[in-house]
Amino acid sequence: MSNQTNLCPTCSTEVSSIAVSCPKCGRPLMSATSLTVAATSRKEKGVLGICTIFGWLGLDHFYLGNVGKGIATLLVFFVCILLSFVVIGAVIIFLGFIFNVIRAIMIFSMSDEAFNQKYNRG
Ligand SMILES: [Zn+2]
Repeated sequence: MSNQTNLCPTCSTEVSSIAVSCPKCGRPLMSATSLTVAATSRKEKGVLGICTIFGWLGLDHFYLGNVGKGIATLLVFFVCILLSFVVIGAVIIFLGFIFNVIRAIMIFSMSDEAFNQKYNRG
Protein backbone atom coordinates (compact mmCIF):
# COMPACT_ATOMS: atom_id res chain seq x y z
CA MET A 1 0.00 0.00 0.00
CA SER A 2 2.66 2.53 1.00
CA ASN A 3 5.23 1.66 -1.66
CA GLN A 4 3.50 3.67 -4.41
CA THR A 5 5.60 6.22 -6.22
CA ASN A 6 4.84 9.52 -7.90
CA LEU A 7 6.84 11.40 -10.51
CA CYS A 8 8.26 14.72 -9.39
CA PRO A 9 6.57 17.34 -11.63
CA THR A 10 9.77 19.38 -11.73
CA CYS A 11 12.52 16.86 -12.44
CA SER A 12 10.53 13.65 -13.17
CA THR A 13 12.36 11.68 -10.50
CA GLU A 14 10.38 8.78 -9.06
CA VAL A 15 9.52 9.72 -5.49
CA SER A 16 7.67 7.81 -2.79
CA SER A 17 4.04 8.93 -2.63
CA ILE A 18 4.42 9.68 1.07
CA ALA A 19 7.50 11.91 0.53
CA VAL A 20 6.93 15.52 1.55
CA SER A 21 9.47 16.88 -0.93
CA CYS A 22 11.49 15.60 -3.86
CA PRO A 23 14.87 14.29 -2.65
CA LYS A 24 16.55 15.41 -5.87
CA CYS A 25 15.31 18.95 -6.46
CA GLY A 26 13.58 19.68 -3.17
CA ARG A 27 10.21 20.51 -4.72
CA PRO A 28 7.34 20.19 -2.21
CA LEU A 29 5.18 17.27 -3.33
CA MET A 30 1.52 16.29 -3.39
CA SER A 31 1.35 14.68 0.02
CA ALA A 32 2.44 17.96 1.58
CA THR A 33 0.57 20.33 -0.71
CA SER A 34 -2.62 18.28 -0.81
CA LEU A 35 -2.79 18.55 2.96
CA THR A 36 -2.88 22.32 2.72
CA VAL A 37 -5.32 22.14 -0.20
CA ALA A 38 -7.53 19.88 1.90
CA ALA A 39 -7.46 22.41 4.71
CA THR A 40 -8.12 25.48 2.59
CA SER A 41 -10.21 24.67 -0.49
CA ARG A 42 -11.46 21.15 -0.04
CA LYS A 43 -14.69 20.59 -1.97
CA GLU A 44 -17.63 19.28 0.04
CA LYS A 45 -20.03 16.90 -1.63
CA GLY A 46 -23.12 18.38 0.01
CA VAL A 47 -22.19 21.93 -0.92
CA LEU A 48 -21.47 21.02 -4.54
CA GLY A 49 -24.71 19.05 -4.77
CA ILE A 50 -26.76 21.97 -3.48
CA CYS A 51 -24.90 24.38 -5.77
CA THR A 52 -25.70 22.06 -8.68
CA ILE A 53 -29.43 22.07 -7.90
CA PHE A 54 -29.20 25.83 -8.38
CA GLY A 55 -26.99 25.24 -11.40
CA TRP A 56 -28.94 27.81 -13.41
CA LEU A 57 -27.12 30.49 -11.47
CA GLY A 58 -23.76 28.85 -12.22
CA LEU A 59 -23.20 28.22 -8.50
CA ASP A 60 -21.56 24.84 -9.05
CA HIS A 61 -19.09 26.35 -11.52
CA PHE A 62 -18.28 29.21 -9.15
CA TYR A 63 -17.81 26.71 -6.32
CA LEU A 64 -15.36 24.67 -8.41
CA GLY A 65 -13.51 27.83 -9.39
CA ASN A 66 -14.65 27.87 -13.03
CA VAL A 67 -15.64 31.54 -12.94
CA GLY A 68 -15.87 31.81 -16.73
CA LYS A 69 -18.30 28.88 -16.96
CA GLY A 70 -20.30 30.28 -14.05
CA ILE A 71 -20.69 33.65 -15.74
CA ALA A 72 -21.63 31.95 -19.03
CA THR A 73 -24.29 29.93 -17.18
CA LEU A 74 -25.65 33.11 -15.58
CA LEU A 75 -25.85 34.77 -19.00
CA VAL A 76 -27.75 31.79 -20.43
CA PHE A 77 -30.10 32.02 -17.44
CA PHE A 78 -30.86 35.68 -18.09
CA VAL A 79 -31.39 35.02 -21.79
CA CYS A 80 -33.87 32.27 -20.83
CA ILE A 81 -35.68 34.65 -18.46
CA LEU A 82 -36.11 37.03 -21.40
CA LEU A 83 -37.15 34.15 -23.68
CA SER A 84 -39.70 32.93 -21.15
CA PHE A 85 -41.92 35.79 -22.29
CA VAL A 86 -42.31 33.74 -25.45
CA VAL A 87 -42.75 30.46 -23.51
CA ILE A 88 -39.71 28.66 -25.02
CA GLY A 89 -37.42 30.12 -22.34
CA ALA A 90 -39.62 28.71 -19.58
CA VAL A 91 -39.42 25.28 -21.23
CA ILE A 92 -35.61 25.54 -21.40
CA ILE A 93 -35.43 26.59 -17.74
CA PHE A 94 -37.65 23.68 -16.74
CA LEU A 95 -35.57 21.14 -18.71
CA GLY A 96 -32.40 22.68 -17.32
CA PHE A 97 -33.75 22.40 -13.79
CA ILE A 98 -34.45 18.68 -14.29
CA PHE A 99 -30.97 18.26 -15.75
CA ASN A 100 -29.40 19.99 -12.73
CA VAL A 101 -31.39 17.88 -10.26
CA ILE A 102 -30.15 14.73 -12.02
CA ARG A 103 -26.56 16.01 -11.81
CA ALA A 104 -27.05 16.78 -8.11
CA ILE A 105 -28.43 13.29 -7.47
CA MET A 106 -25.36 11.85 -9.23
CA ILE A 107 -23.07 13.94 -7.00
CA PHE A 108 -24.94 12.92 -3.82
CA SER A 109 -24.87 9.24 -4.80
CA MET A 110 -21.15 9.32 -5.59
CA SER A 111 -18.93 7.50 -3.10
CA ASP A 112 -16.68 9.85 -1.13
CA GLU A 113 -13.73 8.17 -2.80
CA ALA A 114 -14.99 8.86 -6.32
CA PHE A 115 -15.96 12.39 -5.33
CA ASN A 116 -12.52 13.19 -3.95
CA GLN A 117 -10.85 11.72 -7.00
CA LYS A 118 -12.91 13.91 -9.28
CA TYR A 119 -12.99 17.18 -7.36
CA ASN A 120 -10.26 17.14 -4.73
CA ARG A 121 -7.21 16.27 -6.81
CA GLY A 122 -4.23 18.57 -6.55
ZN1 LIG B 1 12.27 16.76 -8.28
